[in-house]
Amino acid sequence: MDHISHLKCLICGKTYQPDEVDYVCPDHGREGILDVQYDYDLIGRRLSKGDLFHSTTFTIWRYKTLLPVQPNAKVPPLSVGWTPLYRADRLAGEIGLQHLWVKDDGRLPTASFKDRASAVAVVKAQEKGAAIITTASTGNAAAALSGICASVKQPNVIFVPEAAPPAKIAQLLTFGSQVMLVRGTYDDAFELCLAAADEFGWYNRNTGFNPYMTEGKKTVSFEICEQLGWQAPDRIFVSVGDGCIIGGVHKGLKDLLALGWIDHMPKIMGVQAEGSSYLYQAWKNGEDVLTKPAIKAQTAADSISAGLPRDRLKAMAAVTETGGAYLSVTDDEILAAIPALARGTGVFAEPAGAAAYAGLLKAIEQGQVHPNERIVVINTGNGLKDVAGAMKGVELVGTKAYHVAPDIEALRQIIKNTNS
Ligand SMILES: *Cc1c(COP(=O)(O)O)cnc(C)c1O
Ligand SMILES: [Zn+2]
Repeated sequence: MDHISHLKCLICGKTYQPDEVDYVCPDHGREGILDVQYDYDLIGRRLSKGDLFHSTTFTIWRYKTLLPVQPNAKVPPLSVGWTPLYRADRLAGEIGLQHLWVKDDGRLPTASFKDRASAVAVVKAQEKGAAIITTASTGNAAAALSGICASVKQPNVIFVPEAAPPAKIAQLLTFGSQVMLVRGTYDDAFELCLAAADEFGWYNRNTGFNPYMTEGKKTVSFEICEQLGWQAPDRIFVSVGDGCIIGGVHKGLKDLLALGWIDHMPKIMGVQAEGSSYLYQAWKNGEDVLTKPAIKAQTAADSISAGLPRDRLKAMAAVTETGGAYLSVTDDEILAAIPALARGTGVFAEPAGAAAYAGLLKAIEQGQVHPNERIVVINTGNGLKDVAGAMKGVELVGTKAYHVAPDIEALRQIIKNTNS
C-alpha cells in the first residue's frame, strides 16, 4: 500500500505506518482518531478522470486507487456504491431553489449509507486474517456489516440497543450474525463492543475508532462530483450522529481537491436532531469537543442518536474548515420531511435520512442558502428501515387511508366526498 503515506493522530499529529497500528493513536487511546493520509502525486499518476470515464466498475471500487486497500484485494460481491444522484427540479422550485439534487443511498444493498464503510471493513479484516468482525451500532452499521459478511461467509458479532427498529434487527438475524441486543443505549452497546473486541481479539469495525471507515464513506463525495461532471456542488446537506459520514464527505472532497479534480470546496451542512445535538451545540457555542461531556440523546431518528459523537473531531472540522454550518431540527420537522421528500422526489427516507432535507428547509428559512446555489442533499437510509417513523410522518402532515367495503357503491361515496 505505497499510496498511503501514513496514519496521523488528529490530536498530537504523530504519524504511524499502517502496519504499526490498527485503530487509534496509542498515545491518546479512544480519543486519538487517526486520519489516513495519501501520496496524491502517486495516486494522480495511477488514476485519472479519463480512466474513470472508461471504467465499467459501478461500485465504490471504481475508486480503489483512492482507498486504503491493496490493488489486488478481493472485494465483496455485493454491489456497494454508485447510487443515483437525482436532479430534483420540481421540489427545488417549490422551495425556492434552482439547483437541487438528492443522492439516494437508501438504494445500497442493506438500504443505508453504512454499506460504504462496512465493505471496506470486511476487506481490511480479511487482509488481517480476522476470524471474527464486530461492531456496535444503532442498527444500520450493524445491518451493513452483517450483510456484507454474509456475502463472503465472514463470521461476525453485532451489538445493538434492544430498542433498535425491528427491521434492522430482522436484517441481522436473517443474515446470520450473532446478535447481542444490549439492554441500554447505543453508547452502552459501543462500550461493551470495544471491551469484547479487546478481550476476544475480534476485528473492530466501530465508527470513530477504526480509521478506515471514513475512507469507505468518502466515496459518496467522489460519486457526487463525478456524477456532476466534476463540477463540485456549493453545499452538501447530511445528517449527523457520530459524525463519521460527515467526516467522510469532507475527506472525499479533500482528496479531490488535492488531486486537482474539483476547483472548490463545497460548504458542508451538518444536520442534527434537536434531542441529539451535541455537535450543533458545540459548534454554536464554540465548545471544545475534546472536553465537552456527553449529553443525553433522545430522538425519533434512531440512526443519529448519539450522546457522545465518536467521530466528533472529524465532524467538527468538516463544517468549520468548509465554511458550512450545523443545524438542529425537531423530531416533528424530521418526521414531516419524510413525506415531503418522498412526494417531491419519489425518494423514501428513514427519519435520519429525511433529517438532511429538514435541515435544508431550516437553512432556507434562516436565509443561509442562496437560491442559485447548487445543493446536494444526501439520503442516508431507506424508509423501509423504520415504517413506524414513516407512519408518524404521514400522520403529522394529515394523510390517512380510507377503509372501504369491497363494494363499488361504498367507493363511489368516498370518491364523491373526497373530490368534491
Ligand atoms: C449512521 C447514520 C447516519 C449518521 O452517520 P454518523 O456517521 O453516525 O454521523 C445518518 N443516517 C443514517 C440513515 C445512518 O444510518
Ligand atoms: Zn496522538
